[in-house]
Amino acid sequence: MPQIISGEQFMEVQKKMNGRKNGAQKSKQEYLLSGLVYCSSCGSLMTGNARKNSSGTLYISYECSGRKQKNGCTMRSIGKDILEDCVMDALETKLFSPDGATNTADVVMEYMAARHTELPAEVQHLKKQLEEVQQQTDNIVKAIAAGAYHSSLNSQLSHLQDEDEDLETRYKKAVEKLWATTLPKEKLIEYLTSHSNVKQKRPEDIKKIFQTFVASVTVHPDRVEIKSCVDMNGCGGGI
Ligand SMILES: [Zn+2]
Repeated sequence: MPQIISGEQFMEVQKKMNGRKNGAQKSKQEYLLSGLVYCSSCGSLMTGNARKNSSGTLYISYECSGRKQKNGCTMRSIGKDILEDCVMDALETKLFSPDGATNTADVVMEYMAARHTELPAEVQHLKKQLEEVQQQTDNIVKAIAAGAYHSSLNSQLSHLQDEDEDLETRYKKAVEKLWATTLPKEKLIEYLTSHSNVKQKRPEDIKKIFQTFVASVTVHPDRVEIKSCVDMNGCGGGI
């Protein structure tokens, strides 16, 4: 029989056909909270799972990986859409809504202020040192100009110049660091609210938002606990 497709093409076709046969549905599932969901009962990660029940309906969920490995955990799985919707709602309310963003910005500002009190002191100290070196340099230059030339003055001057350059670099770096850690509150609110309407975004964007803003999601038998840069209480009941 003449071969109408090349070996390579044949392999491609085979691959595609196999893909269709073996749960193409399964590979389509994008678990948006992947790696973030924990079981409150045994502490294991809850991972994405798609299975058909006895009547053939596909049930897509996050399941306790400990239970799956038969560690004795009895935590029930939670529907993928239910959990992802719950986290989206919590983010929307607590972080991305105008009120949520303002409250979050307040918390972040307080945190940064408490953390960076030493930095202005460091900057001030460097500035003072820099001024002293410049003062000494001026004095030497004046002395030379007044005719008090001595070869040691020359080496002192070059030493001061090196010190001046070094201090200047350190001072500039410290100032840059200060600016980098000083984020205007309005900018932060603008940034947070730019993520609102999270439910209308594409799955890959929602996933990115989850990975950025969600520290962990802990599934309890009767509620979901969501941790972010500020603590949020997730949905009660409804599993
Ligand atoms: Zn568990």
